[in-house]
Amino acid sequence: MEKTDAEKLAIILPCFNEQEVLPDTLRILTGFLAELIRENRVSADSIILAVDDGSTDRTWEIIRDSSGSAGPVRGISLSRNFGHQYAILAGLFTADADLMVTLDADLQDDHRCIREMVDHYHQGCDIVYGVRKKRETDTFFKRTTARMFYRLMTFLGCRIIPDHADFRLMSRRAVETLRQFPERNVFLRGMIPLIGGKSAVVYYDRKKRTAGISKYPFGKMLSFAWDGITSMSEKPIALIAQFGLILMLICLILAGYCIFQKFWGYTVPGWTSLCMILCGFSAIQFLAISIVGQYVGKIYKECKARPLFIIQESSGPLSEKSFSSSKPDEKQ
Ligand code: UDP
Ligand code: MG
Repeated sequence: MEKTDAEKLAIILPCFNEQEVLPDTLRILTGFLAELIRENRVSADSIILAVDDGSTDRTWEIIRDSSGSAGPVRGISLSRNFGHQYAILAGLFTADADLMVTLDADLQDDHRCIREMVDHYHQGCDIVYGVRKKRETDTFFKRTTARMFYRLMTFLGCRIIPDHADFRLMSRRAVETLRQFPERNVFLRGMIPLIGGKSAVVYYDRKKRTAGISKYPFGKMLSFAWDGITSMSEKPIALIAQFGLILMLICLILAGYCIFQKFWGYTVPGWTSLCMILCGFSAIQFLAISIVGQYVGKIYKECKARPLFIIQESSGPLSEKSFSSSKPDEKQ
């Protein structure tokens, strides 16, 4: 269904110690938002919501000084540094808007793509992903490790969009559905594709940071990637469980070999019993690891408590309750 009326847009900016770039970012985005309003792409009450993620520099003062009823800038300040993913979530769950775009405060991602994203929204998309055309502004090392990460995620069964970071548009409906994912270990790049529905991709060139420093040095990047894997895939546990079974079989074969050796008289006294004890107990342990692994895998899924299904549309008379979500008793 085509959406035509101008609706409220919120551009959400997670900010952690961004005093060097923030004044320019807010000025550029304010001008850009005014253009979108003039073009009637979004409504006049659209906002830029800056989320201060516990900065220790002047970030919050800059946000506070720029926000007021006259301009579009609004701000929220988190009580401490929660991290990029949680700052984005805070923005998405606070901004009361029809469409929301999350964008890094350093404007490395091309904000002009928001125009195309909004157009996709008007054509019925609930999620529009910003994807980098090339990674030539990255070092060779970052490019290679990123490629390896996306391959690994795909192997682990995670529906991740390569070269997409957290620059994306989400409709109110998509954000409401995201609220149904109560997990605490949040990896938005993996979770948001699980929402499904109609989506699109816009391509852009990522610029270099103009000022300030990256908040994702190598160590933090690595731990973010590891978080992504362990938050999105139970396959490593399944692999351990399978490995346990294989090792158990190997132990049983070895036990058979020991008996064979004893039968042909190739052994010294005590060797067979010792080997049998070792192989037998090892087999039992590996079997136990395999079974425990399977239970842990199930517990992992249960703990995530993700929606069992998400209904996109309905037709014909149904009770309100039955088609809002897979958790009908929960208030969204
Ligand atoms: N950020 C945040 N909280 C953090 C770390 C980063 O809100 O704990 C924000 C940061 O201000 C920026 C965005 O997340 O707007 C991405 O960070 P950065 O640009 O440093 O990452 P890079 O582009 O180098 O990967
Ligand atoms: Mg950046």
